[in-house]
Amino acid sequence: MSTTAAPSKVSGFRWDPVFDELGFPKDPDNMYTQTVATMLEAAEVVGLPHRVKIILAQPKNELMVHFPVRMDDGHHKLFKGYRVQHNNALGPYKGGLRFHPDVHLDDVKSLALLMTIKCSAVRLPLGGGKGGVKCDPRKLSAGELQRVARRFTAAIINDIGPDYDIPAPDVGTNAQVMAWIADTYQMSNNTRSNDGMRIVTGKPVEIGGSLGREKATGQGVADVLEEMLPQMGIPIQGMKVSVQGFGNVGSWAGRILQKMGARVVAVMDHTGCLRNDEGFDCEALAGHCREAGGIAGFEKHGGTTSSGNAHGKGATEITVDEFYQTPVDVFIPAALEQMVQSREAEMLQCRVIIEGANGPVTPEGDEVLNRRGIHVIPDILANAGGVTVSHFEWVQNKTAHMWDEETVDRELKRYMVMAARRTLLAANKYDVPLRQAAYCSSLEHLGAVYKVRGIFP
Ligand code: GLU
Repeated sequence: MSTTAAPSKVSGFRWDPVFDELGFPKDPDNMYTQTVATMLEAAEVVGLPHRVKIILAQPKNELMVHFPVRMDDGHHKLFKGYRVQHNNALGPYKGGLRFHPDVHLDDVKSLALLMTIKCSAVRLPLGGGKGGVKCDPRKLSAGELQRVARRFTAAIINDIGPDYDIPAPDVGTNAQVMAWIADTYQMSNNTRSNDGMRIVTGKPVEIGGSLGREKATGQGVADVLEEMLPQMGIPIQGMKVSVQGFGNVGSWAGRILQKMGARVVAVMDHTGCLRNDEGFDCEALAGHCREAGGIAGFEKHGGTTSSGNAHGKGATEITVDEFYQTPVDVFIPAALEQMVQSREAEMLQCRVIIEGANGPVTPEGDEVLNRRGIHVIPDILANAGGVTVSHFEWVQNKTAHMWDEETVDRELKRYMVMAARRTLLAANKYDVPLRQAAYCSSLEHLGAVYKVRGIFP
């Protein structure tokens, strides 16, 4: 661990003088420090002025709340919630709400910073924010989950707004949770306008959600691969893929890529790891996960689905190490952050990693992958499809007009392809790996915005 003030390179981590200036704790394993370090490195490359660097190194607002919720057995439990508003120079704060037992302030801060960088990389007129509640949604009844969502909304109600800070789904939340939040906000909004439903995106379609939003992050992953893989000499038709995490992002990416001719040959989630050299029936696997809560047990389903597809036929259980060692063209980490550290990075047998999750690869992992010549298509580009369609949802709500799914998909692809091309251009211009290139492209835009806006007063 480096404790020196001078910039030094320690395990893929550069200790920028800004850390000392702002009094950051010297912990290179801290995810917030890691994310800021990545941002500052790219800031150096594009020559971002010092004043913009220090603004982006800290969130504008960090809100922490505690609120009681009545549990089904009648007792009350106190929950802790967060909303971090990182930056709104480009537009309203935007980003998901995570319900997970490991939600901590520093993680929420890094995820909020990633949202600022992501929205700028895709050139959306949105800023960055993130929030969450420390809880295990798998252990809450539907009634308890609803009361947590509504009471958390009440706790932050004066700090969010449809043109100020717009939450969305993230790990452990979904369209139903967004519906409860929107309803709580709208019911507490004592005007005669129905505009309060714009408070969140990722809503069910019945109450103003966008067609194509649920699959949007997975669709964006596929769009970026379609743009970038030919340049890496990898045809999608017949390519082998492994997927870590089979929730919203992983399962949709798997289903869409399978339809495009790829074979998903290994999957891992919190319940186990499976391999199938023939390629999984991702639609059937997603259906199994909805019922069973995870991939475990899928291998026991040897039958066929109503569509005639083989179910779990050919699938076998493997260990976590065997999962990482399965030879594939593309590995999609779509679970939680910091899962690919140097050990996992050494084990991987793939040519490309595309980050469906936010921050799944640590700086140490990144350094190993760069050394091994494995391309990493970073989160801020790869998973930006979700927030892009969130933006479309917000626009549709503002204009009271619903787009058809073809329009959503076509516009999403346009945004993703343009962002991928800007990343490749930056990679050539600055001669840096794709992660830094995406940050560089994003920071060039943020820098230009700060240049013309200036800094108040
Ligand atoms: N939680 C998603 C992300 O990390 C989506 C955020 C949004 O739609 O606002 O990008």
